[in-house]
Amino acid sequence: MHKPRARTPDIASLVLAWYDRHHRRLPWRSPPGTPPPEPYRVWLSEVMLQQTTVPAVKPYFETFLSRWPSVHDLAAAPVEQVMEAWAGLGYYARARNLHKCAKAVSEQHGGIFPASEAGLLALPGIGPYTAAAIAAIAFDEPAAVLDGNIERVLARVFAVETPLPQARTELRKLAAQVTPQKRPGDFAQAMMDLGATVCTPKSPDCLLCPLQARCEAFKRGIAAELPRKAAKAARPVRHTIAFLLQRAEDGAVLLRRRPPQGLLGGMLEVPSAPWRETPWASAEALAHAPATLDWLPLNGAAAHVFTHFELRIAALLGRIDARSAGRLDGVWQQPQEAALPTVMKKMLGLLPGDDEIRSTKNRRGGRARS
Ligand code: SF4
Repeated sequence: MHKPRARTPDIASLVLAWYDRHHRRLPWRSPPGTPPPEPYRVWLSEVMLQQTTVPAVKPYFETFLSRWPSVHDLAAAPVEQVMEAWAGLGYYARARNLHKCAKAVSEQHGGIFPASEAGLLALPGIGPYTAAAIAAIAFDEPAAVLDGNIERVLARVFAVETPLPQARTELRKLAAQVTPQKRPGDFAQAMMDLGATVCTPKSPDCLLCPLQARCEAFKRGIAAELPRKAAKAARPVRHTIAFLLQRAEDGAVLLRRRPPQGLLGGMLEVPSAPWRETPWASAEALAHAPATLDWLPLNGAAAHVFTHFELRIAALLGRIDARSAGRLDGVWQQPQEAALPTVMKKMLGLLPGDDEIRSTKNRRGGRARS
């Protein structure tokens, strides 16, 4: 008589057993096997985590929850306050959409998030990934979740050699195949954790991995090469000159609000010359200065990488008395207190101390006059 052969555990069972022992403790999560966290927390964390790392998100998540404990509170907040609380997290359209979505849930759904992937997808600012993640994590719907970590794990386990982004269709099908009917929310978070802590981009720790026996890339010795990525076009460079205008009496700097639409829409900015492909000469940039005065060219420079281009920043320094300052459009804030996007903080980072100003003046022997 044949002895029945032991069934090989499926991918979900292996990953869930590993998750029960090795899950990350994160402020927006419930421990494995316990009731799901509130949809508001899941939604907030998932929107924040798009394009941003877990350590960067944690303090923002906690600030948002303490200022706006419910979706009704967030919906009732002025959008400018939400944008300012978001400052530094990047991709500011997300903050604007977050507020729109809070309003929709508060006003059209009585403050209750729709409990299905399709219902969530209909809300502003919620794309396929976020809808699937919220449906799985908050409502235990077996939705196929595919973030960057999960893509990498699946590409390796199934040795998918097609480069990203073309491989995404195949990976989505594989995600649907391996997602279990039981504990789909824990499974999605387990795959995220596995990708973040074991199956890492450059050096996967295959010896500690619960999927090693099932992993094609490990068997073939190509784990670190996957997922392949289509070659990217070189990122174009743009140039600007920032106008760092300080009020002589207290060192506050002039900031302005950007138009609501477009890059960094609605955020505070340091005035600057238009961001263009060719570098600026100081004299030429002065046509865009916020005030006519003697501007001192500074030695330092900064750079900031956006998704589609890199911005290189030079700076001019101006000082103005309080009476003249009051006649300019904009707001005056202490540089260290302003809630600003990272690129604007980098501009303010070019502000010199008094000693540096003296030595810059001596070296250059002159100022640019606008
Ligand atoms: Fe990733 Fe290695 Fe695990 Fe395969 S065995 S899933 S490559 S860590």
